[in-house]
Amino acid sequence: MDLLSLTLDEVGSALEALGEPRYRARQLCSWVYARRAVDFEAMLNLPAALRSKLAQEFSLRPLEKVTVTGSKDTTRKFLFQLEDGQRIETVLIPASMGLDGERSKRRTLCVSSQVGCAYGCRFCASGLDGWKRNLSAGEIVAQLLAVEELTGEKIQNIVFMGMGEPFANYENLLRALAILNAPWGIGLGARHMTVSTSGLVPRIRDFADQPLQVRLAISLHGASDEVRDQIMPVNRRYPLEELLDACLHYSTKKKQYLTFEYILIRDVNDSEEQARALASHAQRLQAKVNLIPYNTVTGLDWERPTEAVQKRFLRIMQDRNIPTTLRREKGHDIAAACGQLRLAQAANSDGMASS
Ligand code: SAH
Ligand code: SF4
Repeated sequence: MDLLSLTLDEVGSALEALGEPRYRARQLCSWVYARRAVDFEAMLNLPAALRSKLAQEFSLRPLEKVTVTGSKDTTRKFLFQLEDGQRIETVLIPASMGLDGERSKRRTLCVSSQVGCAYGCRFCASGLDGWKRNLSAGEIVAQLLAVEELTGEKIQNIVFMGMGEPFANYENLLRALAILNAPWGIGLGARHMTVSTSGLVPRIRDFADQPLQVRLAISLHGASDEVRDQIMPVNRRYPLEELLDACLHYSTKKKQYLTFEYILIRDVNDSEEQARALASHAQRLQAKVNLIPYNTVTGLDWERPTEAVQKRFLRIMQDRNIPTTLRREKGHDIAAACGQLRLAQAANSDGMASS
């Protein structure tokens, strides 16, 4: 059983089932999350018999590090192997770079929510080899535990922008967010957590009803149905107007500004007309915009626009007073790290490890 998938209440019930009092749930969770025990034997205020029972029933680390690439000052990618042999990627973005391209003192962890992705956006590496399975809540939470353990660094922000579509793994996503947020769990503020979706409209509406003030980012990547249809199959199911209505519902209900992510792809979505349409959507929703120059994916033909075209696009947004950032890091490309892992590469990955 995956202890990291359980809420405090459920840990209590699991302990009761083992013939133990419920109050031990707090002791156990404190070992797991506050003190980061990796071994039940270390939990000295629990009776020895219980410690060995727990060790038989539960697993504390469902991830195993395969490789780490990058260095302390750059984006670091962690390739993890799950207990069934599947592999996922987690990315640590250093303190000096915010995901929005602004300087920040906070470290951000970009987590995967699924093995592969079923949504098949035409530009994305994660969907190229299809969907394999959902991650459990514990496998999501464990990404943070493992990275903090491996680096000795504390993470302040978490973004669901790694492999997979978090809203297609909704129950486990909610569970993971609850554990990440809980005072007995990781204790991250809800506003320090961002979920990114390609636009699953019913889930955006459901998400407005869950209690946490988690931030929402929308992978828009096209400002009209014509363009979005071409690159994101999900748009045929949930066209732009429906998506924008759901976004408005979320931001109104949560009293929150959303972020539109917009990858700039040469001759696909980088026209002045698209920029003007994007600005008008952002205006209507009071959304912020992140422009991300496309990162080449092996096997795909898309390219990023020239810098002049990127700047023209940015200027159109700024002229309309839309809070917009254009990512331009050179050596350490953040976007190259998030949402870019291809299963086939993960399976073959070796070497290149820095630790
Ligand atoms: N499935 C969710 C969460 C994954 S986020 C979503 O799509 O929002 C991964 C982010 O990386 C998304 O914004 C995605 O659009 C972006 N991305 C995917 N391929 C990319 C590429 N080649 N270059 C830059 N960004 C890319
Ligand atoms: Fe899946 Fe998001 Fe990639 Fe689309 S962009 S294929 S939804 S991970």
